[in-house]
Formats: sequence, C-alpha cells, structure tokens
Amino acid sequence: MEIRITKRCICKVCDKQLENEKIIYIKSFRLHAQPFHICISCWKQINKLVEENELEEAVYGDSTKKKLEKWVKDNYKQYSTEWTYERSAGNDSDCFEDGYESGTSWAAYKVGCILGMKLKDPDWPEY
Ligand SMILES: [Zn+2]
Repeated sequence: MEIRITKRCICKVCDKQLENEKIIYIKSFRLHAQPFHICISCWKQINKLVEENELEEAVYGDSTKKKLEKWVKDNYKQYSTEWTYERSAGNDSDCFEDGYESGTSWAAYKVGCILGMKLKDPDWPEY
C-alpha cells in the first residue's frame, strides 16, 4: 500500500476518472495481485468513518452504557416522581429528602429514555 501519482485510472470507490493525481495504491494478493486505486478524498472519508466509529465506541462503549443503565435501575423509583411538597409539608428534613429522591428519580427516568430503556411511565403529581 502506498501513495502514487496516477497517470490515468478510476477510483475503486467513487468511480471517478483520475489523471495525474495522488492516489492510494493497494495491491491485492487475493486477486492475482491486481492493484486497487482509491482517490485521496475517498480514502479520507473512509478514515473519518473509522475514526468516528472508534470515538463513538470509546464514549458510549458497552461498559459505560451498562453503568448508566444500572444507575437508572437503582435510581428510578416510579412512585417518587409524583411527590410534591405537600407530601412532606411541615417536616423540613423530609421535604429535602423527598425532593432529592423525586428529582433523582426524574433524572433517572430521562437518562433511561435516552438510553432506550423500557421503563414504567412516571407517576405525575396530582394537583
Ligand atoms: Zn474516490
């Protein structure tokens, strides 16, 4: 595999006719050493595709997704999404705890939706 200047050839990927241009020259050992010519722009696109895919896997790879799903399962408490301040009115510390739990539960529900998890619908507060 090397970079060559072609006199005249056709890019194996986009079928564009190339003349006196830089190409990626690949020799196939399987097809009787038939050379493949790929234009630089196609080559860049292929590499970009591979890089983006690798980046995506690194960011949203299996282990991270599994950790997030576990967090959602541990923190989504459907019953607590309907809580309002009235539930713990008159008890300051309960009010704080309940608000925290309810808010975390809502966040877990939304993260779960982004991950495409099947979750029970949240209970909405009744006013
Ligand atoms: Zn091409």
